[in-house]
Amino acid sequence: MSECIFCKIVKEDLSCFKIYEDKNVLAFLDMNPIHPGHVLVIPKKHSETILDTDDDVLKDLIVITKKISKAVYEGLNLEGFNVSMNQFEVGNQAVPHLHIHIIPRHKDDGLRFWPQREYESEEKKKEVQEKITRLLK
Ligand code: 5GP
Ligand code: ZN
Repeated sequence: MSECIFCKIVKEDLSCFKIYEDKNVLAFLDMNPIHPGHVLVIPKKHSETILDTDDDVLKDLIVITKKISKAVYEGLNLEGFNVSMNQFEVGNQAVPHLHIHIIPRHKDDGLRFWPQREYESEEKKKEVQEKITRLLK
């Protein structure tokens, strides 16, 4: 994956404003922040989504995301923040190297992320529930 932008950042072929680094994880400022302090947390080893990422790496990532979130929240005097991940192109993932966004939020900042809809019926809800849960048994 030599063309992967985030792998290039890991290899220091591309520069970044580093926030955190250890053996397996790197975090840096998003170059086009939703708000200043928007941080990306990535595994150093290339994977695309949570589906092809080792469980141990995912556990590391979320614990480090908590640690960095606390520093972002306290350091920037925030009122809130979002932790989010886009998965696959259709899920708005522009960079196909796994990353967690830590996004600072401010009161009345005008950002609304998701529309809230309703299921068309209780039957539809049950059908969806079954399609998912049968793969978890
Ligand atoms: P996605 O849409 O894939 O979840 O988010 C990718 C994020 O990576 C975007 O917010 C974008 O601004 C950020 N990004 C893309 N290329 C670079 C880069 O070369 N350096 C940095 N620091 N951020 C990048
Ligand atoms: Zn990569």
